[in-house]
Amino acid sequence: MEEKPAKRQKPPTFQSVTGIYEILPEEAPIWEKAYSAVKNAAQFYDFKRMETGIIENADLFARAVGEDTDIVTKQMFFVRSRTHQWVLRPEGTAPIVRAYLQYGMSAWLQPVKLYYFGPMFRHEKPQAGRYRQMQQTGFEVLGGEPDAIFDAQVMLVAFRILRDLGIKEAVTEVNSIGCRVCQPNIKRKLVAYYRTKASKVCADCRARINRNPFRLLDCKREECQEVKAGAPTILDSLCSGCKAHFRNLLEHLDELKVPYRLNNSLVRGLDYYNRTVFEFFAAEAGEGKAGLAIGGGGRYDYLIEALGGRPAPGLGFAFGLERLVGIIKDRKNGGGRGRRQQVFFIHVGEVAKKKSLGILEMLRKENIPVAASLGKDELGRQIALADKEGIEIVLIFGQKEVYEDSIIVKNLKTGIQETVPIRKMVEEIKRRIKNE
Ligand code: AMP
Repeated sequence: MEEKPAKRQKPPTFQSVTGIYEILPEEAPIWEKAYSAVKNAAQFYDFKRMETGIIENADLFARAVGEDTDIVTKQMFFVRSRTHQWVLRPEGTAPIVRAYLQYGMSAWLQPVKLYYFGPMFRHEKPQAGRYRQMQQTGFEVLGGEPDAIFDAQVMLVAFRILRDLGIKEAVTEVNSIGCRVCQPNIKRKLVAYYRTKASKVCADCRARINRNPFRLLDCKREECQEVKAGAPTILDSLCSGCKAHFRNLLEHLDELKVPYRLNNSLVRGLDYYNRTVFEFFAAEAGEGKAGLAIGGGGRYDYLIEALGGRPAPGLGFAFGLERLVGIIKDRKNGGGRGRRQQVFFIHVGEVAKKKSLGILEMLRKENIPVAASLGKDELGRQIALADKEGIEIVLIFGQKEVYEDSIIVKNLKTGIQETVPIRKMVEEIKRRIKNE
């Protein structure tokens, strides 16, 4: 019997893992814009770059971010080798503080001002603006004095970055959540109030009453809003030290003309904060209404100590870069398709093809964005491609030009062309680009 030819198996196709944000080339220019706004601000305000590892010990986050937080209880990704287990870092502050202690930075001139870029991982339900791998950039001020001038300065850095990126309407919401002195009293008041309303709030809130009362103020569920509106406000119960610190901060912000809005129920989802907390939103309304926060931060005066250091203050903030980039993209004031190529290089014949890369190098060295289709040899197909890309100026390089050391510069729209010596090519193209 004749053997049947084996049925060709279709190779499997793969997709990226759910919730992973990938940067495609057409969006990359906006990311570059965001990176450079961050780097410029860092340089101007004297923050030094620091990059920590992506894999960390789980205990670091349990200790720093809090055992009862969503990040630690639900959202960490675990990484296993045959003998060990770690997590993918869910946020950047705890690793920076770990590094501050590990590398003896408390002996440096204080405060130590650091900034970072990098991916963070949280196993959240993926949805628009919420990813499982996202990029953050963060600024941290470690050590020194717990002076409100530093709170104002980090908020100013964030504000400058947003302005630099053309995000003018961003709103900064600010609150104080007290310190070790006043927090127990504030929490007691919240617990007493919520205990009387337990039947009217969601199950998550009921669980928070004893475990994490500040997070009651963070609930976005419709059924909890009425109870939340009547809850005791934190600001009313701050101790005198916290009140003075907060007043001081607001005065600095007024002086610096950094716009802000008080939000009495802003608490943030990480346990390490004390006193100042803030969040940035792109539009007029708060999170849930007009969109997600583009960044947030605050003071963490107990974190260095909690991670084994001598008591020292700290504060910082982080931006979610996908959200920043998303806003720029939506408003179409970003890079669009990036820097458009204005010149298309066409080669005709084998001899010219061999010299093509050299000519492209000459153009790139002069920063002239040039497109080419080196794999296609027919003149017509190359011209069609230039046309499709909407590029008017084409450079045609054939055998005759190779021997004459020249190149044809042609405008596809007008049809006008001239032959110029190679040594004058850059000058001629620059002249034409300028006149376009
Ligand atoms: P956090 O570390 O939770 O304070 O977050 C700081 C900023 O990172 C937020 O304001 C967001 O802009 C961004 N961010 C946090 N979680 C996510 C996520 N799952 N996906 C995208 N961006 C996020």
